[in-house]
Amino acid sequence: MSDFDYDLFVIGGGSGGVRAARVAAGEAGAKVALAEQDRYGGTCVIRGCVPKKLMVFASEYPGMVEDARAYGWDLNDPEFDWTKFRTKLEAELDRLEGIYRSLLKNAGVTTYDARARLKDAHTVELSTGETFTAKHILIATGGRPVVPDIPGWELAISSNEIFHLKELPKRVLVVGGGYIASEFACILHGLGCAVTQFYRGAQILRGFDDEARGLVADEMQSRGIAIHCGTNILEMERDADGIRVKASNGTEAHFDQVLFAIGRDPNSNDMGLEELGIELGRRGEILVDRYSQTPVPSVYAIGDVTDRVNLTPVAIREGMAFVATVFKGEPTPVDHDLIPSAVFTQPELGTVGLTEEEAREQEAIEVYSTSFKPMQQAFAGRADRVLMKLVVSKATRRVLGCHIVAPQAGEMIQMAGIAVKMGATKEDFDRTVAVHPTMAEELVTTRAPVRSA
Ligand code: FAD
Ligand code: NDP
Repeated sequence: MSDFDYDLFVIGGGSGGVRAARVAAGEAGAKVALAEQDRYGGTCVIRGCVPKKLMVFASEYPGMVEDARAYGWDLNDPEFDWTKFRTKLEAELDRLEGIYRSLLKNAGVTTYDARARLKDAHTVELSTGETFTAKHILIATGGRPVVPDIPGWELAISSNEIFHLKELPKRVLVVGGGYIASEFACILHGLGCAVTQFYRGAQILRGFDDEARGLVADEMQSRGIAIHCGTNILEMERDADGIRVKASNGTEAHFDQVLFAIGRDPNSNDMGLEELGIELGRRGEILVDRYSQTPVPSVYAIGDVTDRVNLTPVAIREGMAFVATVFKGEPTPVDHDLIPSAVFTQPELGTVGLTEEEAREQEAIEVYSTSFKPMQQAFAGRADRVLMKLVVSKATRRVLGCHIVAPQAGEMIQMAGIAVKMGATKEDFDRTVAVHPTMAEELVTTRAPVRSA
């Protein structure tokens, strides 16, 4: 009989927390509790990946309708009903939240709809006033959007609010150049808003392969998104014509909505962590070792609150590795190497491994890359271009990085990611017979390097 109320107390019912709780209870037979202060499913399900991707789908239809006409279809002028879409989206999120709740219930996890903080190394205190003891505590509290400290900041929204707008704005300013800003610039443009994007640096999507992000930016601009690099927002004020925005490039303009997507901070504040000797990083991220353990041996942390790689499948992996380590007697370090990911811009950017710039710093490389007009869009009269790119080690011939800019690049990079993770060489790619006619066949048919460095 344990001296504790629970074997495991999980704080946060998002991607990582729910998976860890379910597996610890369902597969490892642990007595598990989980506290969630808001909605089950967390960022990904309620205000991230899922509603975002559904909005991506919604925003792609106008382009498809245009292309369908070019292919000979006779279509009337379609209209988008935001309220109808939003109502359906909200019902879908309710359904998914219900599934998350029942997954936990069916696995035998006790849930508390409350905020939780640590009282000591084995005690969790809930906002209801209850306290519970646990042999292990897992913090999986995710992150929240950063709000800038500028005059008028309260006039803007973050990605948390974008899914609940009463109506779609006509003129939108998106601030930021990362995943969220670039994805929503494309979504809102596709839904018919006039979109301006401010990014403080030289080119959006910093950290991605230069050639790939350059092509995404060009394609976004050629579709009508006004990207202003080297530009930030200084202040905002509401007047009769909307939100008046003063920019660092000396311009002033009016918008109906301003969306800030300038990064996310870990939810580690007021959790009782520092009092216990748990160290936080510069942004408030919980510092953990490769097993997700903090310096307090009974306390672990996973997912966005640790600010390692802030993606849903990574939070889930970290949760599974935690359960294997602590409850299955299989010490499992988390492998953060060669994680494929996609930015759901239009066109999408799929990536795995090193960028050309990173690889060049590391060793001698060859670059195999081809940019072309894809058949489907070219036939419809579009000037869209796609990119298929491999960064290859000269010495080992291993593919160090793969970068794809194309419709469905997210689907393609998932497959290419397997080969790259297995250590495939350029010659392994070449040995693979092409699937014709596809865009991805170019990944196995490029013969001569375009650059060596
Ligand atoms: P979360 O999912 O954020 O869950 C944390 C939970 O903890 C929340 O429900 C929160 O309410 C709760 N909580 C916080 N503090 C407490 C407390 N003290 N007590 C009780 N509960 C608490 N990733 C992808 O892989 N692909 C994508 O396409 C993608 N798109 C995204 C789009 C957007 C707009 C955003 C914002 C994120 C996106 N992400 C995407 C990132 C992904 O959502 C996160 O990496 C993932 O949700 C992290 O999971 P987590 O378990 O660490 O935290
Ligand atoms: P990112 O870190 O990706 O991007 C933040 C952006 O805001 C950067 O362009 C950054 O510029 C800029 N920025 C930071 N501070 C300021 C400031 N004070 N003023 C103006 N601009 C600023 O964060 P996001 O919010 O876009 O997304 C958070 C994370 O969520 C992502 O990193 C990703 O891990 C995850 N995510 C994943 C998705 C996917 O898998 N498809 C989709 C959405 C989110 P700079 O580059 O100069 O630092």
